[in-house]
This record gives sequence, structure tokens and C-alpha cells, in this order.
Amino acid sequence: MSLNKIIFSAVLLLSCVVKAAPEQFDQLVQQIESGQRYFFSLADYQTALTDLEAALPPNDITRQHRLDRLRCQLGYTDKPAAGIAYSDSKIQQAEQRNDQAALADYYVCRYYLFSQAGDTNLATQSAQQAHDAATASENPLSIAISLTLLGNLASYTGNYADAMEHYVTAYQLQRGLGYKPYISDLVLSIAATYRRMGLYQDALNYIEQAEQKFTSADEQFRHALIMHEKAYSYAELGQYEQALALFEQSMLVYQQLQEPLWQTYTKVNLVWIRNLLQQYPQALALAIEAKAELATLNAPDLSTLESYKGLLAMYQGEALHALNRTQEALQSFDESQQYLIKENNPRYMLMLYAARAPAEAALGNYRQAYDLLTRYIKLNKTQQKLAKEHQSNILRFQFDSARQQEWHNQLTAEKQMMQQHVSTLQLAQRWQYAALSLIALLLLILFSFAISLKRRNHRLHRLAMTDELTNIANRRRIMMQAEQERVKAIDTTEPLSFLILDLDHFKQVNDRFGHDVGDTVLQQMCMTVSAMLRQQDHFGRTGGEEFLIVLPDTGLEPALVIAERLRLAIAAISFADGPAALNITCSIGVSEYQPDEALNVSLARADDALYKAKADGRNKVVAAD
Ligand code: GH3
Ligand code: MG
Ligand code: MG
Repeated sequence: MSLNKIIFSAVLLLSCVVKAAPEQFDQLVQQIESGQRYFFSLADYQTALTDLEAALPPNDITRQHRLDRLRCQLGYTDKPAAGIAYSDSKIQQAEQRNDQAALADYYVCRYYLFSQAGDTNLATQSAQQAHDAATASENPLSIAISLTLLGNLASYTGNYADAMEHYVTAYQLQRGLGYKPYISDLVLSIAATYRRMGLYQDALNYIEQAEQKFTSADEQFRHALIMHEKAYSYAELGQYEQALALFEQSMLVYQQLQEPLWQTYTKVNLVWIRNLLQQYPQALALAIEAKAELATLNAPDLSTLESYKGLLAMYQGEALHALNRTQEALQSFDESQQYLIKENNPRYMLMLYAARAPAEAALGNYRQAYDLLTRYIKLNKTQQKLAKEHQSNILRFQFDSARQQEWHNQLTAEKQMMQQHVSTLQLAQRWQYAALSLIALLLLILFSFAISLKRRNHRLHRLAMTDELTNIANRRRIMMQAEQERVKAIDTTEPLSFLILDLDHFKQVNDRFGHDVGDTVLQQMCMTVSAMLRQQDHFGRTGGEEFLIVLPDTGLEPALVIAERLRLAIAAISFADGPAALNITCSIGVSEYQPDEALNVSLARADDALYKAKADGRNKVVAAD
């Protein structure tokens, strides 16, 4: 350790003891949790851990637990076995104190450790356990992170429709929390999933959405990752020059940031693109450089490093074969197979079969070439079939979530069509078309107007049930749903509860920040609440900033728990693009339906409870008598 470093550490230590260390510790935790801190190398993990240890206030059990949780993820990236043993003992302790948030963290950590150790089954199990604990902890960040893991696993094993559903829910939760790094990661994951399904245009659309958000100077690394993902999509679309330019651009950024790992990964991708451009000597030269670099690199994510080694050997084999050095090419393919077989990733295996077969044939090994092609055709068939199934599932899913947007779009499109007709008519008049054609045109317009009116009525009826600002059920619809659930509850004798939620001091939000900010707050809040409710629950806007939530099959006690969870989630929303001082809370009145009660009586009791919550200082949940 240099003298400078010793002095620096001493000063740091001293400042922790003298100054208020808890804030410093919390700030570090926040930085790490929100994903603002980058971890490029093993050393970065070590530094983060040392910083946390230095800032930990003495005799602070809660923060000690916090540190223990982070230690699992920071301290064992290069020694998974030790990390798994560590988490075993910590999970026992967390179970004893029933600390679900800690459990969720430890299972997330185990997911990474098992992935490192190459045990996909246990990694999958850990992700599921993380999700269970996160759901029990009711912490939106934990839920979002565990959903992201489930999404990764699903995407990796080719279950793209499942992956997409996990990612999109996680994305909505992260939007509510406002953690930009996670948001960009999710957009990239969604884009990569689309790409793997062969939906390249959807992939590019998502990437462009991400690009607009991550362009500031301090987000260079994220922007480079976005370029990287975009390059993949262009390459798949056969636009190799664009892909090449993007990989080279992102390479410059990694060089500037002195980030060795991604420089080398990009180099591997450049070998791939040079091959596709049939520039084999360049490809080979780059491959030799990249291989030497990969051998010295120490990645926090070993399985990615291994995949890149396998891919590089395959690309090198292709270049060698193209340069008539086929015997050496086969050695490269052997090497590639050793790495890629561990991953057993069908996409990679397909690439390898396709690359190796012509080389075998060129050497007269027709039997091997034939075997490889047979395997290729078989695997390709299953993959294509899977892809088709997933595409139709995705389309159904997209349709569901895009449905409301669709109504709006169709209405707008119809309006535009009408305007177009009108201007066509004006044009016709200006040029004094023959009376006959004018009449024909008029008839046509009248006819299409009648049709569009009919369709519009149909759509207006549906729109009439939806609140325009927030896209959730409007008053009429939610009251209908509440009444239907009431009748059902009488039939089934299952419990039923109502939540009336009103935002606190909302008038002040409008007065201080303007009506538009108020509108955005309402929209974001509705997104957050929707993401947290079950499928069978109903959520509607009954007035300006007042909402009704109907919880079928739910008694008073669980309803209070749900209300409390919603209250906390709303208070935790951060409005990324809004003013810093913006803080939203709500009050909630809760009533359970009593046998033979009229709907308005149940709701009036919830309303009375809400009134009490307001009178009692707001930001509260109160149960009805
Ligand atoms: P309290 O805590 O007692 O509920 O205080 P409050 O200010 O929220 O209550 P009040 O009912 O007096 O005011 C509600 C305000 O909500 C009035 C109006 O400015 C605002 N509001 C209602 N609908 C909308 C809307 O669609 N958009 C926006 N931006 N504001 C709305
Ligand atoms: Mg209010
Ligand atoms: Mg109100």
C-alpha cells in the first residue's frame, strides 16, 4: 500500500468516526443498490466492500445486517463455493428473524453464485426463492430484481414469452422507482429477447427508446452497451457495415473508459462481423489479439467469459477455413465446442454445426459433415417451432398490454382519415371536378363516415369505461365491477374488501408544480398500483385524485396489509423527471363487505375510515368500524 493510500484510508476512517458515519454508510448502500456504481473488475467489488466496512458505524446491528447482505454479492464473485457456504449460514439467521428482504437478497446472491459455479438448476431454484421472499417482503425493488432474474433464466432457456412478461413487469416497477441503470438494463434485455426471437424491428424500436434516455456524458458506458445491442440487431438483419460501425464506436468508448473486458468482448464481435464481410485476414488478426487478451482477463461473470472464448474459437475456425487452413480450423472448432457445450445454448450450437460442416466436407470427411448437417437441421427445426410458438404468445401478450393504447390510436387514425377525406374533397372542388365524380366522392365519404361512425360508437362505448388520463377503469366501470363482486361474494360467501385511496394535499402539488406535473403523478401512481395488484383485483378512478380498489376473496386483515403495501409503494415513488421536492403520500380507508349490506353502505364506511385517516394526519391506512 502506498503512503498516499495509507493517509487516505486513515483520513477516511477518521472522518467516519468523527462525522456522522451512518449517513455515509447509507449513501454508499444507496449508490450500490440503485445500480449507480459500476463494477467492471474484481477490484471494484473489493473496493466497494472496503468502503462499506470503513463507513459502518460501531454497534449498529441493522446496518451490520445490511453489510452482511451486500458482502454476499460483493465478496465472493471469484469464489462461489465459499459464497454459497456464507449465504447458507446467513439465510438461517435471516429466517430466524423473519427478515424477508434479507432473504430475498441472499437468494439473489445465490442465483449469481450458482450461475458462476455452472449449476443452472440451483440457480433457477434460487431465483424462484428470491421471488417468493421478495413478494413476501413487499419491497418493489426486490420484486423487480427477482423478476429480472426469472426473465434472464427464461430468456436464456428460450422461453421468450415468459421472459418478456417478467421483464415488462420489472420494467414498470423500476420506472416507478426511477432507477435509471436498471431501467436501461431492462430495455436492453427486452430488446435482446425480441432479437433472439427474430423480431429485429421490435428489438430496434426498444433500443431507440433506450437511446433517447441514456445519452448524457456520465452515461457513456450504458450508451456503449446500447450501441452494442443495436449492432447485434443490424448484423442479424444482414446490415454488416452498420453493425461494424457501431461495434467500433462502442469500442472507442470502452477504450476511453479503460474498460478491458468489454474492449475484448467487442473485439470478438468484430471478428464475427469481419467474417460476415468476408474480410478473413483482418478477422484472423483480430482473433489472435482477442484470444491473447481473453486468456489474461478475469471477469466477474465467468460463464460469459467462457461463452466468448467459445465464440471466438468458432469465428477463428471460420476465418481459417476461408483462408484454406482447414486443418487448423478443425482444431479451433474442437476448442470452441469444449466451451460452448458447457452452456448448451441452442443458438451457439447451431452456429457451430453450420460453421464446422463445410470444413469437414472440404477435408473429405463426408460422414462427419453429413452428421453435423443432420444435427443442424433437427435442432433448427425444433428451434423454429419454439420461436413460432413464442412469437404467437408474445403477440397475444403485446396485444393485451397495448390494447388500451390501440383504442386511442384507432380513434386518432379515424380522425386523420376523416380529415384526409375532407381535404380530398376540397382539392376536388378546387379543380372543379365533374359534378358526377364529386357526387360519387361525396357518397363515398358519406358511406365511410357512416361506417366509421358506427365503429366509433362501438369504440366510444369501450372508451367510455376507461379513464382517459390514467388508462384505468373510470368511475362507472369500477362501480359496476364493485357491484358484480358484491353479488358474487353473496353467492360464494367469500370475503370481499374495498379500499378508498385519496392522495394527500394534492391541490398543493398542482399549485406548486403545475397541473401537468399533477397529471404525471397520477399516471405514475396508477402504473405502480396496477403492477402491485393481483389479476382478479379491480382498480378504478372515482374522482380527481380519489381511487377505489376492489379486492375479491380478501378479508379485512389481508386487505389492511395490502393497503399498507400500496401506501408505502406510493410514498416511495420517485419522479425521475420531476422536481426534486416532489413527494406524494396517500390515505386509505378500508372496509370489508358485511352480509346483506348495500354497496353504498360498505363504501360509505370505507369513506368514513378515509376521513379519519385524513383527520389523523394523513399518510395512513384506517380500517372501517
Ligand atoms: P387532502 O389531503 O385533504 O385530500 O387534500 P387535497 O388537496 O388532496 O384535497 P382536495 O380534494 O381539496 O383537492 C383535490 C385536488 O386534486 C383538486 C385538484 O386541483 C386536483 N385534481 C383533481 N383532478 C385532477 C387531475 O386530473 N389532474 C390534476 N393535475 N389535478 C387534479
Ligand atoms: Mg386529496
Ligand atoms: Mg379528494
